[in-house]
Amino acid sequence: MFVGAQNILPPPLCVFSNEDEVARFQKAAGFAAATIGDAVIELQPAAMSALLKARAAALAEGLNITPRDGAEAARRSYADTVRLWDSRFLPALAHWTNAERLSQTDAARLRDLPVSEQVPQVLQLEQEGIFFSKDLSKSVLYSIAAPGTSQHIAMLAFDANEFSDRRVREILAHHGWFQTVLSDLPHFTFLGLAEDELPGRGLRQVEVDGQAFWIPDVAC
Ligand SMILES: [Zn+2]
Repeated sequence: MFVGAQNILPPPLCVFSNEDEVARFQKAAGFAAATIGDAVIELQPAAMSALLKARAAALAEGLNITPRDGAEAARRSYADTVRLWDSRFLPALAHWTNAERLSQTDAARLRDLPVSEQVPQVLQLEQEGIFFSKDLSKSVLYSIAAPGTSQHIAMLAFDANEFSDRRVREILAHHGWFQTVLSDLPHFTFLGLAEDELPGRGLRQVEVDGQAFWIPDVAC
């Protein structure tokens, strides 16, 4: 996302820490809205324009590109990312307390921490096998980003229902939308570049289960 085309605004920092920072960035970047099915989705204008072109191309081939989980498929606020975090964090906390892997006291302490301090402590617990993903079997970061870090906040991400269709992925890639998060299959990132430009931008291709992901050689 930080290596994208000239016509998109990358986030100025790796982690937004509150709604004000997010709102200021989203206002500066600007965003466009579109209705797909019964969801109104919002993206940076260049990203939206490319997505709508990709969708038109898909429709012309008898395919479709639709938002997964409604409006949340595209732009998210800081509060949205915190709510998603809580949707994993709180049930897992209750589970591990019931399973007596965490004491009531520790659970209460974790719950009361600011969200930015919950993240490193959760990752620490995950080192010990106390996982916070929905199925409690792997790291919470496999399915959701830490609050304030989501590419959805940057309005350069779109979660598509049709991610498993190779032709849909090809159409999206042709329009600058690529899979960039190995564990998050429905998630596409707008880079606004042609595929053959990506290696020159410090991305390398990794193939998992027949799907091509472009991941940074250097993390944020
Ligand atoms: Zn996503």
